[in-house]
Amino acid sequence: MGEPATLGCSVCCKSSWNQLQDLCRLAKLSCPALGVSKKNLYDFEVEYLCDYKKIREQEYYLVKWRGYPDSENTWEPRQNLKCIRVLKQFHKDLERELVRRHRRSKPPRHLDPNLANYLVQKAKQRRALQRWEQELNAKRSHLGRITVENEVDLDGPPRSFVYINEYRVGEGITLNQVAVGCECQDCLLAPTGGCCPGASLHKFAYNDQGQVRLKAGQPIYECNSRCCCGYDCPNRVVQKGIRYDLCIFRTNDGRGWGVRTLEKIRKNSFVMEYVGEIITSEEAERRGQIYDRQGATYLFDLDYVEDVYTVDAAYYGNISHFVNHSCDPNLQVYNVFIDNLDERLPRIAFFATRTIWAGEELTFDYNMQVDPVDMESTRMDSNFGLAGLPGSPKKRVRIECKCGTTACRKYLF
Ligand SMILES: [Zn+2]
Ligand SMILES: [Zn+2]
Ligand SMILES: [Zn+2]
Repeated sequence: MGEPATLGCSVCCKSSWNQLQDLCRLAKLSCPALGVSKKNLYDFEVEYLCDYKKIREQEYYLVKWRGYPDSENTWEPRQNLKCIRVLKQFHKDLERELVRRHRRSKPPRHLDPNLANYLVQKAKQRRALQRWEQELNAKRSHLGRITVENEVDLDGPPRSFVYINEYRVGEGITLNQVAVGCECQDCLLAPTGGCCPGASLHKFAYNDQGQVRLKAGQPIYECNSRCCCGYDCPNRVVQKGIRYDLCIFRTNDGRGWGVRTLEKIRKNSFVMEYVGEIITSEEAERRGQIYDRQGATYLFDLDYVEDVYTVDAAYYGNISHFVNHSCDPNLQVYNVFIDNLDERLPRIAFFATRTIWAGEELTFDYNMQVDPVDMESTRMDSNFGLAGLPGSPKKRVRIECKCGTTACRKYLF
């Protein structure tokens, strides 16, 4: 660190930019490449606030400094602190907790150690959740931003969860990318031979607003990499990924994490895909027994034609991993085929069943059933055999629904 480094140099360790800056400051070395100059070498950054006291009319805060151990924490008068946001958050957390504990919000002159300790835990949790939020957003390949919020308890980010944007193919499974493209002038208005869905005697899925107009249970065939149409083709919706800003939040009724939308979603609009690791159904059986014992499972059977593969979103998944079950859901599942036309391996997409307003929680029915009557109209081909009736993917899960109706107090599979 003593020699001036150049921008763009790489360090073969997992230190972040912040950590490297902290190292410079600890060693009292300036480093232009890291933005640590002689001028700001002695600027310190507040990591979080640990305690509060008021002596006469002066307010003091116990500061945890970024890059320094707890033993270096110092009491600072309020006017020394320029971290407005950290101060605001500290007082918000303090007041909320005072109300919860003592039904009053005015801070006392000294905090009891128990309360101060809680505030440190809360601050640490906020930082952990912020880091997780940054990590999720760095990994997403879609337009919609992800925010993370826990105003309910002290739980931090889930310990073992890796964000992915598309299926991750498990061991021993090969995807055949065998798509055939279309040659339409306009896939919606002048489809040649029914465009991509027509090739397999299915219907065109969307209107010009990208809203699905098929009944649940009917498959969606989107345009693919071999089609002549461009990126703006109305038959490319799911492949463009999540476009709404969504929030992973802690539910206050014991359902763990949930997902809410931060934007209005119009009826029949695509919201998100259910992605995870694709495994064989035998492997899913094995994992299912372990998950059952743990009380939660993220297995989603792909039983569109036959039950050969299952999606497991326990470890690898996207934001759909956090979407809760409801018997009155606002998301509906569809099977989607894009580059891979293997009917045993559809992609699973969620569409809004109604207008979903900003702030509403997103839910789907883990045991989505599709009315068999609807299946009749699934294919234009009347010779389509009953044995091949496409199913609707089901999340293989053992849950007790919290919606309260008697019908729901059962184990769902
Ligand atoms: Zn086309
Ligand atoms: Zn096409
Ligand atoms: Zn097209």
